[in-house]
Amino acid sequence: MSTNNSFNPFRMAQEQFDHVADLIGLDQSTKELLRVPMREYHFSIPVKMDDGHVKVFRGYRCQHNDARGPAKGGIRFHPQETIDTVRALSMWMTWKTAVVNLPLGGGKGGVICDPHNLSMREQEQICRGWVRQIAKNIGPVSDVPAPDVMTNAQHMLWMMDEFETIHGGRYPGFITGKPVGMGGSLGRTEATGYGVVYTIREALKELKIDPKSTTASIQGFGNVAQYAIELYTQLGGTVIAVSCWDQKDQTSYTYKKNDGIELKGLLEITDRFGGIDKNKAQDLGYEILDGDQWIEQEVDILIPAAIENQVTGETIQKVSKKVKIIAEGANGPTTPEADAVINERNIFIIPDFLANAGGVTCSYFEQVQSNTNYFWEKEEVLGKLDTKMTTAFIAVNELVRSKNLYGRDAAYVIAISRVAQAVKDRGWV
Ligand code: NAD
Repeated sequence: MSTNNSFNPFRMAQEQFDHVADLIGLDQSTKELLRVPMREYHFSIPVKMDDGHVKVFRGYRCQHNDARGPAKGGIRFHPQETIDTVRALSMWMTWKTAVVNLPLGGGKGGVICDPHNLSMREQEQICRGWVRQIAKNIGPVSDVPAPDVMTNAQHMLWMMDEFETIHGGRYPGFITGKPVGMGGSLGRTEATGYGVVYTIREALKELKIDPKSTTASIQGFGNVAQYAIELYTQLGGTVIAVSCWDQKDQTSYTYKKNDGIELKGLLEITDRFGGIDKNKAQDLGYEILDGDQWIEQEVDILIPAAIENQVTGETIQKVSKKVKIIAEGANGPTTPEADAVINERNIFIIPDFLANAGGVTCSYFEQVQSNTNYFWEKEEVLGKLDTKMTTAFIAVNELVRSKNLYGRDAAYVIAISRVAQAVKDRGWV
């Protein structure tokens, strides 16, 4: 694993923003408005623990921008959560909803806690406490939360129940990522991974490469990676390596098979956190390499789909000359130093906030279904998802071609221009 203690995601998000703001000549007031969240809430959540003592957890919500519609973004439970991570992620959500042209803004929330060490009752109390602290400042028409790192459908349901208790009504559109049958959408589980592959499919068309002739290496084997592998394999591609975190050894490993990993078999030996059983993988004939080696594989496509800050100035030097596409399933996997090299080497980048926008797009579909209380079939959801992702990809790609822009810059130009236009049209600047 590549780690860098001085890595600050908010600085990186601002650096990316400043670069494009200058590129499009954004005026000073709009720049000032968009380079920080419009609103952020910091609060304490007292929770009576199972042993009777009260522990105070720290919670956050940032609403980066809501000019195009209600803020939208997940809530993370993480022991190393920081306000700067939440700020950065809220900003990236604004660009993500804008680049796929959803009528939504960007938000993010978090609680500093480690669910591994909390009972379900304690987790429920944190969820309810988080909502109580912020219930007046979020809601279906202002800010709509969702699951994120270490939060799931059950957490969303507790939060919805608390919100409805406070406001006295049924508001399923308050939150997304709910269980199917309780206001959730079919297709949400697949949405992010499939979305990544819809964009890869379009990139391969652009490069005139047959997916069947391609190979890929992936960092991560969780929700995003698993469904990306499923669809990419259906298109005829071959995944030769995946990398994931080993909880027991507290390190990561790359699992490699030259003739292609077998998804179903690997899933049978994977825990719910996306960790593969090393010994069983060895029995199945996988070569076990260092965690970092996913990036060194001689493949056509690299898909970082685990954590941030992985494709760096250092690791990019190890990327094979064969690599033609980097599709960012994870949020913030690539640093600006690595971007410079990717651009110079003419590798086709599908930036995070475009590549992994399938998740929020499906969350938007969930909001629409919840608000109308009418639920669609899975095929309808996935069909609409494909249309949205493909349309967004084509718009970005046309800008790449017509203005000879780097892929990440082109996606930013579209997203930032849309948000800047909205704040201008509203008369905010
Ligand atoms: P997940 O928790 O289901 O899986 C994460 C995977 O990454 C696991 O396989 C884990 O073992 C692996 N991992 C963790 N640290 C690692 C390391 N150092 N080296 C190698 N592997 C490591 O998470 P997910 O939902 O698949 O999300 C993955 C990324 O995609 C995150 O950056 C997330 O923010 C982003 N994302 C997810 C969604 C979504 O809908 N799930 C949407 C948009 C973006």
